[in-house]
Amino acid sequence: MIPVLQDYLSIPDGTLTWNTRWISDFESPWSIFEKLKYTNLAKRKDIFKLFGNAETLNKKTIIGHKNHDLYKLSAFDELLFDQRLGFKLLKYNETVLNSLVEFLRGGEDYEKGSETSEYHFLEKNLSICMHCIKDGFHSLLHQVEFINLCPFHNSPLINHCPSCKREIPYELSDSYFEHPYLCYCGFTFKKIDSNSPLSSLW
Ligand SMILES: [Zn+2]
Ligand SMILES: [Zn+2]
Repeated sequence: MIPVLQDYLSIPDGTLTWNTRWISDFESPWSIFEKLKYTNLAKRKDIFKLFGNAETLNKKTIIGHKNHDLYKLSAFDELLFDQRLGFKLLKYNETVLNSLVEFLRGGEDYEKGSETSEYHFLEKNLSICMHCIKDGFHSLLHQVEFINLCPFHNSPLINHCPSCKREIPYELSDSYFEHPYLCYCGFTFKKIDSNSPLSSLW
């Protein structure tokens, strides 16, 4: 069953420059975090400070893939997402991914394969639709290995910066972008409109 976004939304507590209308169906935690960084001049460490669970906050330095993994999101506290974002991000992410697993298991082309991860059919790198990302949007659907075209635009998905060809891992990081949506090579993924600095939608 496809999760209904509305069921995961509430009213944010006002800590952040944020509006739940900026969240779209099937949106990935990656673009939620990029939008948050963009509108709140935040960095990766601020995301941990805002939403990290007790174990994460107790760490002096937050290293290791597990803490930055955007599929499992194990470094974060759902209650803080609910309060500050008005969005049950953990539950929504998990439900969408599980629905995809369920769908693929029922599909004829799906092979069971590796038992090591229930999400082994998901891309390790960020998979980008150049149309979606112009508006700051990235979807969990883009991350499915078998999906090579954006389901919203029917355009090819790419897994590197179109200018410098650098691959961008699908994880919470400041190491690939100088600012949200801006590659270190200078390529801007999000279209910036000076009349409407966010977008028509967010
Ligand atoms: Zn698209
Ligand atoms: Zn680049």
